[in-house]
Amino acid sequence: MNKPDCLIIGFGPCGIEAAIYLKRYGFNPIVVGKDGGALEKAHQIENYYGIESITGKELLEKGIEQAKHLGIEVVNDEVLAIETDEGFKVIGVHHIWQPKTILLAVGASRASLSSASAYEGKGVSYCAICDGFFYRKKKVAIIGNGAYMLHELEILKQMISDLVIFTDGKPLMVDVGDTKVIKDKILRFEGEGKLQNIVTEKESYPVEGCFIAIGSASGFTLAKHLGIAMKENSIMVNEQYMTNITGIFAGGDCIGGLLQVSKAIADGALAATEISKYLKKS
Ligand SMILES: Cc1cc2nc3c(=O)[nH]c(=O)nc-3n(C[C@H](O)[C@H](O)[C@H](O)COP(=O)(O)OP(=O)(O)OC[C@H]3O[C@@H](n4cnc5c(N)ncnc54)[C@H](O)[C@@H]3O)c2cc1C
Repeated sequence: MNKPDCLIIGFGPCGIEAAIYLKRYGFNPIVVGKDGGALEKAHQIENYYGIESITGKELLEKGIEQAKHLGIEVVNDEVLAIETDEGFKVIGVHHIWQPKTILLAVGASRASLSSASAYEGKGVSYCAICDGFFYRKKKVAIIGNGAYMLHELEILKQMISDLVIFTDGKPLMVDVGDTKVIKDKILRFEGEGKLQNIVTEKESYPVEGCFIAIGSASGFTLAKHLGIAMKENSIMVNEQYMTNITGIFAGGDCIGGLLQVSKAIADGALAATEISKYLKKS
């Protein structure tokens, strides 16, 4: 089934709780996640109602098992992009879905390089499709080493000829054809008012633009691609948990506030309730 009522991106506490509620409301959600998110990193949780002490990993696994037990499809995949041209199209490494609604339950992480943030909007971008055009005839770097970087690279290649990949000291995990690859660790970004150089442990490389595509698409990057309104790196939602794009909802750590399991679960239940009302109306 690649046309679910709701595609929930993230199988942390927010995503799984939302899926359980949607199933109970009579809908067919699919949950997709790429890893255990923040919960997996929590060694011991001792402030969650009714459970004295549990590891994050154990709680995560229990949630996923509970969802599967209810007949909910839980998929391991990394979402690379969301398109909104004709309905929604969510593109993963291994799957494509066309859901009626989307819930972003993608957690708080934002893959970045701290020294790059000073040049955001001044040469540093997180969105190839949004900003690639502005760098058409320029020397441009893309930073990353996996499937998400490759996805962004393919977009940039259509507009930019002078492209170089920086893996920032990591092994290259994908085939990039004949695009130049620099594997040195990046030390800093430099420039007077705008980005001019990427300095690695071995050399300084002059560039006019740099696209950050480290790891996988975070909530921040997925939202930026879609033109979803953000505030201080959190996705903005209204009282119905809907973003500024009709049919795309968000909850949990990615919308900010208290970054805790209890709040993520509450968001999941409340967002699912609003999604079910929305689905019944449409
Ligand atoms: C070290 C540590 C200790 C903590 N201790 C506690 C504690 O004691 N008590 C407590 O209440 N909270 C604790 N927390 C916080 C808690 O883990 C989070 O608040 C909670 O997990 C948030 O849930 P979430 O569902 O919003 O996001 P997450 O649990 O972060 O889940 C995000 C999901 O999104 C998925 N995802 C993201 N991007 C993509 C993509 N492109 N494609 C596919 N999937 C994607 C991830 O794979 C993951 O499944 C701790 C966090 C950390 C890091």
